[in-house]
Amino acid sequence: RRKWKKIVGVFRELEEACDTSVARLKQVVDAMAVEMHAGLASEGGSKLKMLLTFVDNLPNGREGGTFYALDLGGTNFRVLRVRLGGRRSSILEHDVERQPIPQHLMSSTSQDLFDFIASSLKEFIEREEDSSDHPLEKRRELGFTFSFPVKQTSMTKGVLIKWTKGFSIEDMVGKDVSDSLEEALMRKGLNMRVTALVNDTVGTLALGHYHDGDTVAAMIIGTGTNACYLERTDAIIKCQGLLTTSGGMVVNMEWGNFWSSHLPRTSYDIDLDADSPNPNDQGFEKMISGMYLGDIVRRVILKMFLESDIFGPVSSRLMTPFILRTPLMAAMHEDDSPDLTEVARILKDIIEIPDVPLKVRKLVVKVCNVVTRRAARLAAAGIVGILKKIGRDGSGGITGGRRSDMKMKRTVVAIEGGLYTSYLVFKEYLHEALTEILGEDIAKHVILKVTEDGSGIGAALLAASNSSNN
Ligand code: ADP
Repeated sequence: RRKWKKIVGVFRELEEACDTSVARLKQVVDAMAVEMHAGLASEGGSKLKMLLTFVDNLPNGREGGTFYALDLGGTNFRVLRVRLGGRRSSILEHDVERQPIPQHLMSSTSQDLFDFIASSLKEFIEREEDSSDHPLEKRRELGFTFSFPVKQTSMTKGVLIKWTKGFSIEDMVGKDVSDSLEEALMRKGLNMRVTALVNDTVGTLALGHYHDGDTVAAMIIGTGTNACYLERTDAIIKCQGLLTTSGGMVVNMEWGNFWSSHLPRTSYDIDLDADSPNPNDQGFEKMISGMYLGDIVRRVILKMFLESDIFGPVSSRLMTPFILRTPLMAAMHEDDSPDLTEVARILKDIIEIPDVPLKVRKLVVKVCNVVTRRAARLAAAGIVGILKKIGRDGSGGITGGRRSDMKMKRTVVAIEGGLYTSYLVFKEYLHEALTEILGEDIAKHVILKVTEDGSGIGAALLAASNSSNN
């Protein structure tokens, strides 16, 4: 009994530390808006990098032609070919090929990684096209989605600032991403030019905007998390004299690195961070995204089992970082069998703890719930932070004005990522929090729209709109 009490004590403590009351979420919203401001005011002014993308015109639907895209940035790597018909929402066809990135390439050399990408692209082109009509030497234009923090100098050029999401290829940091790719393509005899170098969030925003002109921001919640949005150039203070025809530019926030003392942080987050290859980095991402949620749960279960030793020696599996992947955690969370058989199976097969009593299994489900709920609600607060910054949260934004005076515009946020699209409870918690923070009257004007393969197709769209042929 005493041991059960201890386990429950661990849970209660977790629940308390993960507080995401509306009051606290609103503090996070304010902190996000403030940090966005600071990141736009000066280089290094905030943990939010607020990177310029040089994308000033989003696709409007008139793009035409055949374009390629490469999408590198998470667990999978994608090659795409997109044919555009020149009218809104007339993507005539697109072919996608996905493959996992071989683990060893994530920490090898930049040449190994880019040669692998170039080979995949070459094979894809050879398969997709009749080579007699389309010789390999033919000039092709390419959108490259490279979803790591990049300091861009134009829409096609930029150097890698740092790796995230488990990649660590030292010689690549500081190098130009498009050059590295084009060199590898040349080594394979492909005549291709990168006409758009973008981040996955920017690709998602581009596709969202292509379909729906009210789309002003995009968010990814998959292995990692990030967001971008359309900002007025005169608000980008750190880049004086930035002139664009549209008067706006897409800003890649790199919000995974957001930090605020208002974030509900637990001892598990602190330990996870310390054990990670990038300590003190990507703090927001480590509380929210799919790469980490399962491991937070594993750490809580470990603590429960250490505190109670009723299960004998702790299995070495339970000590292994990242053994409990987030989809498995979701499967436990969504187990609706009365005996929680799926929870029992996962605890036995993955973590090698057989015969966990039902009441402990129930508590494990509750742990999953607390961790996911916190993540989803913080992501919602992040979105509202963006809306607040651009005056679309119903509060009148920076121009002031009473709430009742404002006519709230229809506002669309494009969303992508497996955590949001495949983990139903996560999505529900996110929507619920959005309504709680904004209030129903405002929230009904905010639409979250899932795009598909936006990170890749959007890059092809931007390659098209930035192409000399369009
Ligand atoms: P990526 O972000 O790696 O480019 P995705 O957007 O498809 O690719 O996201 C994949 C991530 O989403 C996985 O790493 C995992 O963390 C999460 N995920 C995928 N499916 C599920 C699921 N059923 N439940 C919970 N999380 C999931």
